[in-house]
Amino acid sequence: MPLLNHDAEHDPNKILPIDYDWAREYYRDGVANNWVPEEIPMQEDITQWNGDDLTDSERQLVEWNLGFFSTAESLTANNIVLAIYEYVTAPECRQYLLRQAYEEAIHTDTFIYCCDSLGFEPEYLYGMYDRIPSIREKDQFVVDLTRNIDDPEFRLEDTEDVRDLLRDLVGFYVVMEGVFFYAGFAMMLALKRRNRMVGIGQQFEYIMRDESLHVGFGVDLINQIRKEHPEAWTDEFGAEVRDLIETAVDLEATYAREACPEDVLGMGPEQFVEYVEHVADRRLGQLDLDESYGTDNPFPWMSEAVDLNKEKNFFETQVTEYQSGGSLEW
Ligand code: FE
Ligand code: MN
Repeated sequence: MPLLNHDAEHDPNKILPIDYDWAREYYRDGVANNWVPEEIPMQEDITQWNGDDLTDSERQLVEWNLGFFSTAESLTANNIVLAIYEYVTAPECRQYLLRQAYEEAIHTDTFIYCCDSLGFEPEYLYGMYDRIPSIREKDQFVVDLTRNIDDPEFRLEDTEDVRDLLRDLVGFYVVMEGVFFYAGFAMMLALKRRNRMVGIGQQFEYIMRDESLHVGFGVDLINQIRKEHPEAWTDEFGAEVRDLIETAVDLEATYAREACPEDVLGMGPEQFVEYVEHVADRRLGQLDLDESYGTDNPFPWMSEAVDLNKEKNFFETQVTEYQSGGSLEW
């Protein structure tokens, strides 16, 4: 199969004929979502940030999320280019990986824009992943999952190697982009719904729309590898993936309780934890694993915003909906 191994018939430089239509669809959906952060005015946010409308908890919530995302976007971009690109050789998948890498550049640009507009000291914001244990632990957790394939000696030769690649993909697509991003999305969108920091909230909405495609592509890629290498995804490995996702939920719960220590906007940290459990159950389902939590979505307005429905279960269907254009329409 041509996904991970090229041969005379599957040259990584010859994208036609297409073997994986789903990868092309993600590419086209990504292009339809084009945006840049400068389109979103920040004047109102700057006024709020410099005034005294915001409570200390609201400020902390904004800082924690800017601190986490500002470096997480770079970690994700680096993983695409420095770790997985080499091993996923199907040209239409690589085309999407390049598109995703560009979107991660847009996301890192967004945090430069936010940092500059609000007048943060760069070291204050970008140092948070060293300084704040709950942020550092999330980043460290996914980076550890990529250690094997980051080794320059790594070659994709046997089943254990395929498993190493799957572990990296689960780490970045399912855990980082699929779980660790979602408490932050919910927090920033909750603020926006109350007319606090609406410019940043809108930037997070655009990022979230991109991320839902990233997660979708990552899950489809994982599931395609599973189909082509069924010996790699054993019951034991499935149990390991569940453990990883459950540990991620614990780390995300710690982060949510710290970032949002008391009721902000009528929402307490426990609701963010429930939301993360709900999202984690969805991720398990996308990987054809049973739910771990059975937690209801405490924020129904988030599913409208995220349009989680677009993340169809690979095992049921491979249809991906098309976006209508570059503007944000949920
Ligand atoms: Fe991103
Ligand atoms: Mn992403």
